[in-house]
Amino acid sequence: MIIMKFGGTSVGTTDSFAQVAQIVAEKVAQQAQTSRPGVVVVTSAMSGVTNTLIDSAQAAAAGDEGPYREARSQLLVKHQVVAGQLIEDGVERANLGRLLDTRLHEFERLCRSIAVLGEMTNRGLDVVSGLGERMSAPLLAAVLRAKGLHAEFVDAGELIITDDEFSNASPLMEPTVTRCLNRLQPMVQSGVIPVITGFVGATEKGVPTTLGRGGSDYSAAIIGAALDVDEIQIWTDVDGVLTADPRIVKNARTLPELSYDEVAELAYYGAKVLHPKTVTPAVEKKIPVVVLNTFNPSHPGTRIVNKPERSSAAGSVKAITAIRNMRMITIAGRGMMGVPGIAARTFGAVARLRANILMISQSSSEQSICFVVPDAEATGVVSALNAEFERELARGYIEKIDSQRDIVIVAVVGSGMKGTPGIAARVFNALGAKQINVIAIAQGASEANISLVVLTGDADEAIRSIHDAFELGQRVTA
Ligand code: ADP
Ligand code: ASP
Ligand code: MG
Repeated sequence: MIIMKFGGTSVGTTDSFAQVAQIVAEKVAQQAQTSRPGVVVVTSAMSGVTNTLIDSAQAAAAGDEGPYREARSQLLVKHQVVAGQLIEDGVERANLGRLLDTRLHEFERLCRSIAVLGEMTNRGLDVVSGLGERMSAPLLAAVLRAKGLHAEFVDAGELIITDDEFSNASPLMEPTVTRCLNRLQPMVQSGVIPVITGFVGATEKGVPTTLGRGGSDYSAAIIGAALDVDEIQIWTDVDGVLTADPRIVKNARTLPELSYDEVAELAYYGAKVLHPKTVTPAVEKKIPVVVLNTFNPSHPGTRIVNKPERSSAAGSVKAITAIRNMRMITIAGRGMMGVPGIAARTFGAVARLRANILMISQSSSEQSICFVVPDAEATGVVSALNAEFERELARGYIEKIDSQRDIVIVAVVGSGMKGTPGIAARVFNALGAKQINVIAIAQGASEANISLVVLTGDADEAIRSIHDAFELGQRVTA
């Protein structure tokens, strides 16, 4: 049994829906020859839809009701064009039309109440932002049926039970496993392909949640692990995980194999191709995660496993990534040395805000502490620190609490790399040759990552020059 997740671009147009149906049909036929047949499908919203939903709701919260009204008709057309071209059966089309109407009516009703209230909670946002998958999945199920496959839509709100951290919920694995087995196994055993909404879940009380932007990858891994599938396939618009973002590095190359650890680092530090938590559910059962290209399906893509067989390149650099829109916070002062517990109080104050620290920078003196947080969280962090250290600031033990904008963390990833001498030197030489200023270096615990802080304007050049220095575009690792 395998699970196949299709991303937004894979279900972006009528042609791509047709392509997905072809890929699924071929997989079903292949799987039928195996000892454990069965295909489960997870889909994202059509590309651009989640953004449209969120933008319209935000506009509504700000008092502008135009965008959601316009979005309602635009979204209806977007889905109906696909249905109109790929589904001939009149009854199927009528049923789908009714379902789209119901969803979009709900969207309009929600946006209207957001506009009346003049604000939007994360809880409300999750109901709105999950509607994209709640339209694309029934549409894909109907498209698969039109191709003669036995497919049925399943809402992941029935399967993935989460905590109530709205807009970034985490699955509660025990009830999730039970739900997945009870609901999906009988379907698969009777030859049905469940077509499941990615991105969404629900609390135990049934309140809708989402798993964070890009979360459909994570949905597939959660459901795949619950069903103990043989493979979790992530179908996207590139030939697998590449040595760098192909939009930045033109000669980026597909990595045939990666370890769970390496991919977790890449995703955490911004490689958009996988949601950062995707491999977590797969690790325990050692289920391979394979990243494949919907638009080039014969390409073998990237296989992510516990211990890559072809890991001759252990200890070397495999890929470069970057996470943008960060801010670096610095606490500095010559008197800091004498005050005990400054670091503990700093990180305690940040933790109370539940802000996410992406990197802590090493400093040889005790005169400053630097760390990096997402832009959106920086203002809160700085005010919390000013409150925490009010006395030390007044007495001059701490001179300033600063935040620097336009920060990017560039992460150089490869297992065992940190223990290999000379890698950091090569990274710095490459950047030095381009006169790129490295603002800070990470004190990461992971063996698989060296990270550094540069200014936004230097980030792309930094990625390209490190990529070149390690000849990632040409080297054959297989
Ligand atoms: P999907 O809609 O299928 O989930 P995403 O847009 O979320 O697709 O992720 C795929 C995109 O990730 C690619 O089109 C590519 O631009 C970007 N990307 C960034 N870094 C990498 C990388 N290292 N390898 C492959 N793709 C990457
Ligand atoms: N549709 C959701 C998003 O755009 C989830 C996903 O595509 O993975 O974030
Ligand atoms: Mg994605």
